Amino acid sequence: MSANRERVYRGSAARATVWRNVSGAERRERRSHLTAPRVPTVGIDIGGTKVMAGVVDADGVILETLRTETPDKSKSPKVVEDTIVELVLDLSERHDVHAVGIGAAGWVDADRSRILFAPHLSWRDEPLRERLADRLLVPVMVDNDANTAAWAEWRFGAGRGEADLVMITLGTGIGGAILEDGQVKRGRYGVAGEFGHMQVVPGGHRCACGNRGCWEQYSSGNALVREARELAAADSPVAYGIIDRVGGHVGDITGPLITELARAGDPMCVELFQDIGQWLGVGIANLAAALDPSCFVIGGGVSAADDLLITPAREAFRRTLTGRGYRPEARIAKAELGPEAGMVGAADLARLVARRFRRANRRRVERYERYGRIYGRQGADS
Ligand SMILES: [Zn+2]
Repeated sequence: MSANRERVYRGSAARATVWRNVSGAERRERRSHLTAPRVPTVGIDIGGTKVMAGVVDADGVILETLRTETPDKSKSPKVVEDTIVELVLDLSERHDVHAVGIGAAGWVDADRSRILFAPHLSWRDEPLRERLADRLLVPVMVDNDANTAAWAEWRFGAGRGEADLVMITLGTGIGGAILEDGQVKRGRYGVAGEFGHMQVVPGGHRCACGNRGCWEQYSSGNALVREARELAAADSPVAYGIIDRVGGHVGDITGPLITELARAGDPMCVELFQDIGQWLGVGIANLAAALDPSCFVIGGGVSAADDLLITPAREAFRRTLTGRGYRPEARIAKAELGPEAGMVGAADLARLVARRFRRANRRRVERYERYGRIYGRQGADS
């Protein structure tokens, strides 16, 4: 609040107008995506290893995509900012860009202007929206990448028509997002949806967050790899298949390899997916008890295992759901949009702030035209 006021008073009149327009557009977002202008926008997904930028139209169709590596964590925040600006400028040479949406792997504050913390980047309380809007001269929207992916799955993917949706992203850890009545629930401080750190096993595996027994220690890519490596390191007979495959180098066991072997029917790998699928179902039942959505969308790299993961999750969900048999059961669906979901969602959310800008822009154009006419007439008279 104080930052708001400060900026309005300190900046020039023009800057104050811009600020008010942006926050006005933000408030407007709560109304509807249905009335947002049908214009192409740019969505940017900033992950731990790569930055993906794309132009997306109003139907969620990707018109062009650019990819680059995420700048080194040790580098200053400015380097990431420069990367984003370069990508947007490159895309706007070929497309009409009306707004830019950023989905970042990190905590974004509740009014979505600052990145509070990003584990893979050097952002610490970074006023990203303001910085980028100043440089790009179009409205900018910043959100957490799980929120943007959930939005995309709701609008164009596995959750179409399900306005009460919970997305669970199984990558190295667990990311999540909540959509209620077609609106992203971010919590008072913007950090809702950190499902991965709900405790499911008291005194269980130590988690990087400092606690023990977090959900993501039992149902994630890291959990999958940890279990497989443990079995292989112990030279367990069930692990012979995978040991052969990596030539005895236990460190070479990865999530995609386990998925591949499970698909080919390797019993240990199938069992590992049953384990993490079961834990997934238990966690989903807990979330259903708290949030009661109509649909859970499972995304992230681990979801590539499809039914090997989803079937045990559904079974465990049914066994664990509170009030089972007496309530409608939420649907559990695999995400449809793949690794582009975060980018598409960021672009679509950006359309919600694009309208105000367009109007302001049109007004500005009209004003110039009027001045032009007056000036032209004066010129003709004299
Ligand atoms: Zn944790």
